[in-house]
Amino acid sequence: MGGRKMARDEESAYGSEDTTQEAPRLRLILAGKTGAGKSATGNSILGQKRFLSKLGATSVTRACEVGSCRWGRWRVEVLDTPDLFGSQVHRTDPLFEERTSCYLLSAPGPHALLLVTQLGRFTAQDQQAVRALKALFGDSVVARTVVLFTRKEDLAGASLRGYVRDTDNRALQALVAECGGRVCAFDNRAAGAEREAQVQELRALVERLLRDHDGAPYSNDVYLLAQELAGGDPEQRRRRVAEKLAGRARGRRGRPCAWMAGRWLHVAALLGAAFLLYLLVTIFLSRTRTDGAVTEEAGNLVTKNPGAEVQTPTSFREKPVASDTVVLVFICVCFFFFWFFFPSFFILSHFKILLSFFNFFILYFYFFISIFFNWQLPLCPHMVERPRQLSGAPVSTPAAFDEGTIPIMSDLLS
Ligand code: GDP
Ligand code: MG
Repeated sequence: MGGRKMARDEESAYGSEDTTQEAPRLRLILAGKTGAGKSATGNSILGQKRFLSKLGATSVTRACEVGSCRWGRWRVEVLDTPDLFGSQVHRTDPLFEERTSCYLLSAPGPHALLLVTQLGRFTAQDQQAVRALKALFGDSVVARTVVLFTRKEDLAGASLRGYVRDTDNRALQALVAECGGRVCAFDNRAAGAEREAQVQELRALVERLLRDHDGAPYSNDVYLLAQELAGGDPEQRRRRVAEKLAGRARGRRGRPCAWMAGRWLHVAALLGAAFLLYLLVTIFLSRTRTDGAVTEEAGNLVTKNPGAEVQTPTSFREKPVASDTVVLVFICVCFFFFWFFFPSFFILSHFKILLSFFNFFILYFYFFISIFFNWQLPLCPHMVERPRQLSGAPVSTPAAFDEGTIPIMSDLLS
């Protein structure tokens, strides 16, 4: 009974595409960071060494490639990808062309995406791969994604579901939840019946996905355009799809969080601008108060203490115009802003991380030490000693204005 129902579903799923007597197509895309085992997984699915797979610091897969095999009456097309899921790539980068190829080779859309990751090694690079996957195909692509773990042998017979449930890797748990709990594991060194059993497990997950989406492939505006231009001039089709992809990437970058996530330099500039603004505001406030009200009030105080010993101070220390609390709040806001809105900070290269930390701590440490140790540092206007002429020269002030200036001026300004 179940078998008959499945057969009906298969027919309805592919009936629309199968206008000739050709076998209906089932498209799978292999995604994930370099070295995760995408090519090896592709070979396991196909049951032959179709894709080049070997250990290397950089991707050995240079271009998108398709291999095919049969799953019953279906013709399965497996698309292996090069390093498309690393960092953002510019329009002029050859990898941008590969993204276009990825779309063209999987048009009118994949039925499932296999996000390949090594068992026990779901790192920041894998998280970046997930972000890149969403950026390339759209956020809703997770509804078609299966998380496929390689190096199944490391489970040593334990259950994959148990591993995923008990892992303390929050990012991995969140990803599995986002993907509707679709997980499977491959030992790509397995052969024979063991390999076949792994493929059958994946096939069951893909069939479930097909049922959930009435057999329709995943689609978005880029796939729709590729489909629209199918059969036309191949060069024009490629160019139009590349333009659409570039526009899509620009649009995505326009979104505040994505813009910040991909642009650490812009975030640093933004923080720098905030810092400058802070400086300008405090300098402005400080000038207004000292030049106006402070001078006047100080003059009044001198008049009120005529009998006091007369001295001529040349400078006095102002009470911080921007209070320490304001500065601390400012620092905290900047810190949390940085922490929450800049997640990609933690997946950047070591050099960039070092540079960012350096900027970050130089900037804020400066404030902290100037406030807590009361040091007078340049560029901290609220702490700078500012010489002032209180009235016409020579200016007379009570004795209290010399050593005792600070408490009196503090009273004045509070
Ligand atoms: P890609 O860059 O994602 O395509 O990764 P590759 O397919 O080139 O694999 C990178 C390395 O991981 C190769 O040396 C593979 O032999 C190895 N590898 C992939 N899957 C497995 C697996 O399930 N078990 C083991 N032991 N090694 C694997
Ligand atoms: Mg590869």
